[in-house]
Parts: sequence; C-alpha cells; structure tokens
Amino acid sequence: MSTGGKMEIICGCGNAFEAWVWQSVNVTASPELRETILKGEMNVVKCPSCGSRFHVEIPFLYNDVKHGEWIWVYPAGYGESPEAARAELEEMWERISADMPPAIRQAIETNYKTMLLFGMDALVAHLKSQDQSDQPRAAKNSPST
Ligand SMILES: [Zn+2]
Repeated sequence: MSTGGKMEIICGCGNAFEAWVWQSVNVTASPELRETILKGEMNVVKCPSCGSRFHVEIPFLYNDVKHGEWIWVYPAGYGESPEAARAELEEMWERISADMPPAIRQAIETNYKTMLLFGMDALVAHLKSQDQSDQPRAAKNSPST
C-alpha cells in the first residue's frame, strides 16, 4: 500500500501552504508511481502564491515487492552524516515494526533487501540501472554479425 498525507510546506518566498506528499510507495501495487519517480515528479509541489515548483525532501520509503527491495530515501543532505540517518532509520523501523505481528516482521526482514539512499536522484539512478539489468535479453538480441 502506498501512503501519504497533507503536509505544511514553506516556500522560499515565505508562503506556507498545504500539499499532498507521499511517505511510502508500493510500486508493485502502483507502478505509475515508479514512473512519477523516474520523471522526477515525486513529491514535487507548486506554491500557490509565487507559482514556483520544488521538491519536498522528506524521508521516503520505496517498496518493490517484485524485486524484494525496501529502499529508504533520505534527503540528500543526510548523505554527509550517514550514521545519523542509519540510526534514525533503525529507530523508525523499531517504531513501525513494534505494531507488527512477529511473523510479518520476520517475513519482511527475511524477504527484503533494505537499502538506504540519499536524495531522489540516487533513487532515480538506482531504478535506471534496475531497468537495464531487467532487460539483458533485449540488448543481447541486437544483431552483431
Ligand atoms: Zn512561493
């Protein structure tokens, strides 16, 4: 399931407004959200006062059941102190998984590869390389003789 909510955003112009942002996406259930990420439009909002469009940087969970990937995307700024992000992530996972039945928690920890990336650009790069390794046959089929 993909989840999100309304959040108060403060624009560079000083205007505060509410906008919908995604906090987690399940791209197996909602493949169109993967396209949104690849187009660079994930969590991009528009200020109703000055009209400028920008990306809201919030920790974000990318869940891909098909590839068994659970990717936390932290704002790019966290990349300077990855330990802090990792500690925060562990704390958040403890909080989320505390409400989960133990069997489900275990299934997630066994079946998913958890990754931590910094910035939406890093996620886009990861998805592009995933697309390439998903289609090795198409590349090999091109005539070479
Ligand atoms: Zn503005």
